[in-house]
Amino acid sequence: MPAPATPKRQPVRTCVACRTSGGKRGLLRLVRLPNGAGVALDPTGKQSGRGGYVCATSACVELALKRKALERSLKTALTEEVQAELRAAIPPENAV
Ligand SMILES: [Zn+2]
Repeated sequence: MPAPATPKRQPVRTCVACRTSGGKRGLLRLVRLPNGAGVALDPTGKQSGRGGYVCATSACVELALKRKALERSLKTALTEEVQAELRAAIPPENAV
């Protein structure tokens, strides 16, 4: 019998808007910068710091912004610039 695959420990990444893991649509990661420097989009997903995820769809991004779900999750405000970056990061096929 083959040995069971070693489970890799992966942090649970769920969208702050719909609370699902995004799946094939993918998730956009936002990370809170140190020293009160605000929030940045983290396309590589490798930046350290407190992160928040939202599906890369306009529906979830708009919902998250409207509910201030990312702000709550990251405990800091999102600047207009970051909100614009977030919207710009949505692939065209996921935009409504
Ligand atoms: Zn979502």
